[in-house]
Amino acid sequence: MFSPLPLLEARPQRTPIAVSGDRAPRVNIWQVGCQMNSADSDSLAEQFSELGMVPGVELENADLAVLVTCAVRQHAEDRASSRLGELAKWKAARPGRGIALTGCMVGEHGGSLLRRFRHLDYVFDMREPDGFFARLRDLYQGALEGPVPLPASDRLFAYLPVILGCNEMCTYCIVPFVRGRESSRPAAQIELEARRLVDRGVVEITLLGQNVNSYVSPEDGSGLPELMAKVDKVPGLKRLRFLTSHPRNASERLLDAIADLPAACEQFHLPVQSGSNSCLGRMKREYSVGEYLAVLGRARTRVEGISLSTDVIVGFCGETDAEFADTLSMLAEVRFDTVHVQAYSPRPGTAAFRRPDDVPLTVKKERLQAVLGLQRRISEERNRALIGRAVEILVEGIGEDGRAYGRTRQNRVAWLEIKAAPGETVTAQVTAATAWQLVAA
Ligand code: SF4
Repeated sequence: MFSPLPLLEARPQRTPIAVSGDRAPRVNIWQVGCQMNSADSDSLAEQFSELGMVPGVELENADLAVLVTCAVRQHAEDRASSRLGELAKWKAARPGRGIALTGCMVGEHGGSLLRRFRHLDYVFDMREPDGFFARLRDLYQGALEGPVPLPASDRLFAYLPVILGCNEMCTYCIVPFVRGRESSRPAAQIELEARRLVDRGVVEITLLGQNVNSYVSPEDGSGLPELMAKVDKVPGLKRLRFLTSHPRNASERLLDAIADLPAACEQFHLPVQSGSNSCLGRMKREYSVGEYLAVLGRARTRVEGISLSTDVIVGFCGETDAEFADTLSMLAEVRFDTVHVQAYSPRPGTAAFRRPDDVPLTVKKERLQAVLGLQRRISEERNRALIGRAVEILVEGIGEDGRAYGRTRQNRVAWLEIKAAPGETVTAQVTAATAWQLVAA
C-alpha cells in the first residue's frame, strides 16, 4: 500500500516528439495544496531544467503541462479535475503536447486517473519520478541540449522537504495513505540544496515535512535539531524555520536548536487539534492535553520571546459542547499568537470517515466563530503588548501604498514606516498593532 507507484502511461504511448521552432521543450507546472506541493513544484522545475527543458512558462507556450495535485480536501481534487478538463482543449490545439499528473491524487487514485481523463498521458509518483524523466528523455531526445540554467530566484523564501510521508494515523487525515510512510532524505543532500537555494537569492528556508520533527538522518540517525544545525551554517542564510511538528516528537533538543542556532527563528507551530482528551483519543493524536501544555511550557521557558501557533479542528465526530468548551479554555490558557482553525469535513479513505459526522454544520460554524473571536482578541492583545519594543523585520516586498512589509522572526506581519528594500533586514520599533499585523518605524 505504501510503496511508490512506477510511471503509469496512457495507451497508445506518445511517440518521439520534434518540438516546433528548434527550441528546448517548455513546461507549465500548475500546483494546488500545501507547502509540500510548492516544494515539489520547485524540485520538478529543477529536474526539468537539468534534463534540458524550460520550466515555468505560460500554459499557452508550453509543450508539456504538469499538475501537482492535493487530495487532502475534496475541493482541492475538484480543482485539479477542472484543470484537467480545461487542458483537453489546450492539448488538442497543437500536436505533440502532453499532460502529466503527480501529487497526492496519485496515491489515492493511481492508474484509474488515466481511464477517467483520456487526454492525460502520464501519472507519476513524486517519490519516484525517475521513470517519468527517463521517458521524457527518450521522447524529446533531439530537442534536449543539456541543462537549461534556471534564472536567479526572485524569491527570498523557500520550502525544503526533509522528510516525506507520515507514520502517524490521525483518524481524520488522508496523508499517510497518499504520501506513504515516513522517509527522511539524506542530510548531505538537504544541506547541498540549502546552499543552492541561498546561492540563488533565498534568505529564509523552511524545512518541511508532514511530521518534520520525526526526521531521522539516513546517514547517521541524527534528528531534526542536528539537521537544523547543518543548514543554519549555510553562509548567507538569514532565517530558518520548520513545519509541521507533531507534539509527540517535540524534544528538548529541538527547543535547544530554536534557542541557540543564530538563524533559527523563535517560532514554533505545534498543532493541537483539540483541547479535550476524549476528542484527541478519537482523533488518535497519541498525546494528552497535559502533555501538550507541558511542551509549550518548556518552549516558553527555554526560548525567550517564542511565538506559538497551532491548528484546531472544530466539530470532529462526536464533539460535545463540553469537549468544545475544553478546547476554548485551553486556547484561553495558552494564549497562542496564531491559531488556524477549520471545521471538520469527512474525507473518504480515513478511519474517521466510518464514524458519523454528527455535529451539525450550524454548530460547526458557531464553534468556528467562537474560536476565531477568542483568538482575534488574544492576538490583538499579544501584538499590542509589543508596542514600543524593537523587532527585527525581514522585508518581503513593497505594498501598493509604497510602504515596505515583511515578517518578524516570530512570523508576525509588519509594515514599515521607514524606507527598506526587499531582502533587507531592519530593526524597527513597533508603533501600532492589530490582531493580524504590526506597524514599525
Ligand atoms: S501527523 Fe499530520 S500528516 Fe500525519 S496523520 Fe496526523 S495529521 Fe496527518
